[in-house]
Amino acid sequence: MQLSNETTLFMQKAIYYVSKPMAARGMLELTDRCLYFQVFPFDASFGIKNVSIDVVAITGVTIEKGDLHPKISVLADRKYEFVLSKGQQLYDRLKELQRNPLQQGADCEIPDMLDCPCGRKVENVFHFCPWCGKRL
Ligand SMILES: [Zn+2]
Repeated sequence: MQLSNETTLFMQKAIYYVSKPMAARGMLELTDRCLYFQVFPFDASFGIKNVSIDVVAITGVTIEKGDLHPKISVLADRKYEFVLSKGQQLYDRLKELQRNPLQQGADCEIPDMLDCPCGRKVENVFHFCPWCGKRL
Protein backbone atom coordinates (compact mmCIF):
# COMPACT_ATOMS: atom_id res chain seq x y z
CA MET A 1 0.00 0.00 0.00
CA GLN A 2 2.74 2.49 0.84
CA LEU A 3 5.65 3.97 -1.10
CA SER A 4 9.03 2.35 -0.59
CA ASN A 5 10.51 5.42 1.13
CA GLU A 6 7.68 5.85 3.62
CA THR A 7 7.84 4.81 7.26
CA THR A 8 4.77 3.47 9.02
CA LEU A 9 4.20 5.32 12.28
CA PHE A 10 0.85 3.89 13.26
CA MET A 11 -1.52 1.18 12.11
CA GLN A 12 -4.80 -0.05 13.53
CA LYS A 13 -8.27 -1.20 12.56
CA ALA A 14 -10.67 1.72 12.70
CA ILE A 15 -14.13 2.88 11.78
CA TYR A 16 -14.40 5.69 9.27
CA TYR A 17 -17.54 7.85 9.43
CA VAL A 18 -18.27 8.75 5.85
CA SER A 19 -21.34 10.72 6.95
CA LYS A 20 -23.63 10.63 9.99
CA PRO A 21 -25.45 7.39 9.24
CA MET A 22 -22.72 5.75 7.17
CA ALA A 23 -19.56 4.14 8.50
CA ALA A 24 -16.99 1.75 7.11
CA ARG A 25 -14.56 -0.59 8.81
CA GLY A 26 -11.03 -0.77 7.56
CA MET A 27 -7.35 -0.44 8.29
CA LEU A 28 -5.94 2.94 9.13
CA GLU A 29 -2.27 3.51 8.48
CA LEU A 30 -0.26 6.63 9.19
CA THR A 31 3.12 6.96 7.51
CA ASP A 32 5.49 9.92 7.74
CA ARG A 33 3.87 11.21 4.51
CA CYS A 34 0.31 9.97 4.27
CA LEU A 35 -2.73 8.93 6.22
CA TYR A 36 -4.42 5.97 4.59
CA PHE A 37 -7.68 4.25 5.32
CA GLN A 38 -8.26 1.09 3.37
CA VAL A 39 -11.89 0.02 3.49
CA PHE A 40 -12.43 -3.69 4.19
CA PRO A 41 -13.85 -5.55 1.17
CA PHE A 42 -17.36 -6.05 2.61
CA ASP A 43 -17.87 -2.31 3.19
CA ALA A 44 -16.06 -1.44 -0.03
CA SER A 45 -18.72 -3.52 -1.80
CA PHE A 46 -21.23 -0.81 -0.76
CA GLY A 47 -19.18 1.67 -2.73
CA ILE A 48 -17.25 3.26 0.14
CA LYS A 49 -13.94 4.49 -1.18
CA ASN A 50 -10.49 4.29 0.37
CA VAL A 51 -9.06 7.46 1.88
CA SER A 52 -5.58 8.86 1.34
CA ILE A 53 -4.54 12.21 2.78
CA ASP A 54 -1.22 13.93 2.22
CA VAL A 55 0.16 14.72 5.69
CA VAL A 56 1.24 18.21 4.58
CA ALA A 57 -2.37 18.91 3.51
CA ILE A 58 -3.70 18.35 7.05
CA THR A 59 -4.72 21.68 8.57
CA GLY A 60 -6.12 20.48 11.89
CA VAL A 61 -6.62 17.46 14.12
CA THR A 62 -9.04 17.14 17.02
CA ILE A 63 -9.85 14.38 19.50
CA GLU A 64 -13.20 13.82 21.23
CA LYS A 65 -14.27 11.26 23.81
CA GLY A 66 -16.59 8.75 22.23
CA ASP A 67 -18.98 6.21 23.76
CA LEU A 68 -16.36 3.50 23.59
CA HIS A 69 -13.31 4.83 21.75
CA PRO A 70 -12.04 8.32 20.97
CA LYS A 71 -13.05 10.02 17.75
CA ILE A 72 -10.32 11.69 15.71
CA SER A 73 -11.26 14.38 13.22
CA VAL A 74 -8.74 15.20 10.53
CA LEU A 75 -9.20 18.40 8.55
CA ALA A 76 -7.75 18.45 5.07
CA ASP A 77 -9.66 19.05 1.83
CA ARG A 78 -12.66 18.11 4.01
CA LYS A 79 -13.27 16.63 7.45
CA TYR A 80 -12.52 12.95 7.99
CA GLU A 81 -13.71 11.20 11.16
CA PHE A 82 -12.22 8.00 12.52
CA VAL A 83 -13.05 6.04 15.67
CA LEU A 84 -10.42 3.69 17.05
CA SER A 85 -9.28 2.35 20.40
CA LYS A 86 -5.78 3.81 20.12
CA GLY A 87 -7.17 7.19 19.06
CA GLN A 88 -5.00 9.08 21.53
CA GLN A 89 -1.88 7.52 20.05
CA LEU A 90 -2.93 8.45 16.52
CA TYR A 91 -3.73 11.99 17.66
CA ASP A 92 -0.29 12.39 19.27
CA ARG A 93 1.44 11.07 16.14
CA LEU A 94 -0.51 13.42 13.88
CA LYS A 95 0.25 16.40 16.12
CA GLU A 96 3.93 15.47 16.12
CA LEU A 97 3.90 15.31 12.30
CA GLN A 98 2.20 18.70 12.10
CA ARG A 99 5.00 20.23 14.16
CA ASN A 100 7.70 18.63 11.99
CA PRO A 101 6.23 18.34 8.51
CA LEU A 102 8.24 16.83 5.69
CA GLN A 103 9.13 19.38 3.04
CA GLN A 104 8.62 17.13 0.04
CA GLY A 105 5.15 16.55 -1.24
CA ALA A 106 3.91 13.02 -1.10
CA ASP A 107 2.12 10.80 -3.52
CA CYS A 108 -0.58 9.38 -1.29
CA GLU A 109 -2.61 7.54 -3.88
CA ILE A 110 -3.75 4.09 -2.85
CA PRO A 111 -3.42 1.98 -5.99
CA ASP A 112 -6.83 0.92 -7.34
CA MET A 113 -5.37 -2.16 -8.96
CA LEU A 114 -2.82 -4.62 -7.61
CA ASP A 115 -0.59 -6.85 -9.70
CA CYS A 116 -1.11 -10.50 -8.91
CA PRO A 117 1.85 -12.85 -9.57
CA CYS A 118 -0.43 -14.67 -12.05
CA GLY A 119 -0.22 -11.61 -14.26
CA ARG A 120 -3.77 -10.32 -13.74
CA LYS A 121 -4.66 -6.87 -12.47
CA VAL A 122 -6.85 -7.25 -9.39
CA GLU A 123 -9.07 -4.58 -7.86
CA ASN A 124 -7.79 -3.42 -4.47
CA VAL A 125 -11.00 -4.54 -2.70
CA PHE A 126 -10.10 -8.24 -2.92
CA HIS A 127 -8.07 -10.19 -0.35
CA PHE A 128 -7.65 -13.05 -2.82
CA CYS A 129 -7.07 -12.99 -6.53
CA PRO A 130 -10.43 -13.96 -8.12
CA TRP A 131 -8.60 -15.73 -10.96
CA CYS A 132 -5.89 -17.80 -9.26
CA GLY A 133 -6.99 -17.64 -5.61
CA LYS A 134 -3.64 -16.33 -4.36
CA ARG A 135 -3.73 -14.21 -1.21
CA LEU A 136 -2.86 -10.59 -2.02
ZN1 LIG B 1 -3.86 -14.22 -9.55
